[in-house]
Amino acid sequence: MICVECGSDVEHLIGGSCAACFVRATPLLSVPDVVRIELCAHCGARKSGAHWHDPGDAPEEWVRDETVRDSVGVHERVDNPVLETDERQLDERTFHYAIELHGTGDGVPLSESAEAQLRRTKSVCDRCSRLAGGYYAAIIQLRATERDVRPDESERAHRIVATELERQLEGGNRFAFLSKDGSMHGGHDYYIGDIDAARNVSRLLKDRLGASMHESAKLVGRREGEDVYRITFLVRIHAFSPGDLAVGKADHRLFSVVAVHQGGKVAVLDLETHRRDRVHEERLKRLGGPELLQDAVRVSRDASGVQVLDPQSYKTETVLVPVEYDDEGETVPVLRHEERLYWAPRPGGWMS
Ligand SMILES: [Zn+2]
Ligand SMILES: [Zn+2]
Repeated sequence: MICVECGSDVEHLIGGSCAACFVRATPLLSVPDVVRIELCAHCGARKSGAHWHDPGDAPEEWVRDETVRDSVGVHERVDNPVLETDERQLDERTFHYAIELHGTGDGVPLSESAEAQLRRTKSVCDRCSRLAGGYYAAIIQLRATERDVRPDESERAHRIVATELERQLEGGNRFAFLSKDGSMHGGHDYYIGDIDAARNVSRLLKDRLGASMHESAKLVGRREGEDVYRITFLVRIHAFSPGDLAVGKADHRLFSVVAVHQGGKVAVLDLETHRRDRVHEERLKRLGGPELLQDAVRVSRDASGVQVLDPQSYKTETVLVPVEYDDEGETVPVLRHEERLYWAPRPGGWMS
């Protein structure tokens, strides 16, 4: 076949030309003289257009290489293009790139090389500047009903907040950060950089700690022509947890709390009749948690109940233990209430 441009006889033509003429007449690679890259000096995030992107675990060298590759244009006639790059640092912020392209055109192997410079500037990304400025978009107020949030609940909440924000950050939400936090009104406040992140954290707290959740918005100003709201998530832990001990405010019945349901309904076990019941938490007065239980040495069992040694007087007392919950171990968990001993279940045992 004869090239229309140089007349040489070759095996294959690309659009009528031999490979050499085609490459001479058609720039296969277009590369800007200078490629610019803007990185966050704190976290290494890269700015592309108006947006910042987290580098994840990628080393900066990869981020630079990717930026150069993204800026290279390859002619549409080149099939199966493969780019090879070679980086050499010239000074603190300038890098030289040798770029080679290999591909085919109409089945004929093609290659071309080019050079480019990469200039790196460093600034502070939107996330880091917001973090430094104490920015937040939402507040999670963790509280408890008619009591303070207990230390073990606070600890669980801290772990849930930290783990969930980390998970969301890894999932691409750059503003899933905790700006500040602190104890407040018998509970804890968390200031979060993003509303969706705070909503997800609040839902987890609600489910895992047994709480209700209420969302409210407050207009705090305008930014770029749009109203800016700050959202508050009130997460209120129910008054009771499984294993809590309580008395009825009106009937003075003694209960062990089995489960807490939506809307403040509490499943209880009556410690005198061993009947199960369901009451609203407002009708109960909390005596305390499982820390009120003592272990009494088990002596025997007869038709009237289980005989135990009162851990204070060492006298033998009889308590009622449902047969199905009597494991015949060495001790029996008992609650002392108004001078009497009652069997009460330990949470995590049969109740879990
Ligand atoms: Zn030719
Ligand atoms: Zn940053």
